[in-house]
Amino acid sequence: MTDFEITHVRKECIGCGLCASMDSNKKYWAMDETDLKSNLVGGKEVEPGIFKRTVKGAPDQDLELNEKIQEACPVQVIKVEKMTPATRSQ
Ligand code: SF4
Repeated sequence: MTDFEITHVRKECIGCGLCASMDSNKKYWAMDETDLKSNLVGGKEVEPGIFKRTVKGAPDQDLELNEKIQEACPVQVIKVEKMTPATRSQ
């Protein structure tokens, strides 16, 4: 089990669809049919166009999947950070 945080700079997403296609369960990523960009499922908008989601107690493969998605995003607008005890207490 693992805790991690995902940041999505949605305003810079080009809507290629890769993140949603890699997340077949649509647990983290889904396309938005209204503007054809992706949505971070369960994300909260922390600044205009920037979304974050904190994931706690997820299976390790969920972190691995999101790290692969981070690497795959062609415009690098996805950031995945594993939470350590230090970051958890912030
Ligand atoms: S992989 Fe990146 S650019 Fe493509 S839809 Fe997802 S967030 Fe947007």
